[in-house]
Amino acid sequence: MAAEGDCVFCQIVAGAFPAEFVHTDDRTVAFMDINPSARGHVLVVPRTHSTDLHDIDPEDLVACMRTAKAVASTAVDVLGADGVNILQNTGQAAGQAVFHFHIHVIPRYGGDGLRSILSPRPGDPQEIAAAAAAIRGD
Ligand code: AMP
Repeated sequence: MAAEGDCVFCQIVAGAFPAEFVHTDDRTVAFMDINPSARGHVLVVPRTHSTDLHDIDPEDLVACMRTAKAVASTAVDVLGADGVNILQNTGQAAGQAVFHFHIHVIPRYGGDGLRSILSPRPGDPQEIAAAAAAIRGD
């Protein structure tokens, strides 16, 4: 497995740094976030180092999502969560602080008081259309 020497999540994957593991398989590990946003907040990471969504191997991405789905289901079944947020931060501007790809699995409980990180509000239709055209490459 490729690892980066100064990457804390690589050290966790290697067992060289402590973590509270909840799942391991041949491609992914999942462990508790030490600064949980909610009870049962788990991080899912690929064993092989990748920085973010841009450079993760697609097979590792699929494996991470598979693990995240299983962890989310367990949060509902075992912890009694009423919902789950799946969050992936890519880039400092998006709030990424640890530069080893990871998916947050954040169980949500009715009335937990956490806000959504998204603040939907009506957009300018022309700006929406212009962004869509740019993404499509029109
Ligand atoms: P992000 O902002 O998406 O990069 O999230 C990084 C997450 O990693 C934060 O929620 C941190 O609390 C968490 N974190 C950082 N170091 C550790 C660690 N040693 N063990 C568990 N979680 C960690």
